[in-house]
Amino acid sequence: MRTRLSICRRKARFATREEALVAAAKAEVPLRAYRCDRCWRFHLTSRIRCR
Ligand SMILES: [Zn+2]
Repeated sequence: MRTRLSICRRKARFATREEALVAAAKAEVPLRAYRCDRCWRFHLTSRIRCR
């Protein structure tokens, strides 16, 4: 699944998967970290079936 540029630009970016997972652990909903193919950093998503 390609990341929309508009989504990429408004989402938080994490340099590493570890950083993203730390942030995800603080959230109250299950989040997954995935690498964005626009900025090549990591974003979080609540979607289970992402890519
Ligand atoms: Zn991105």
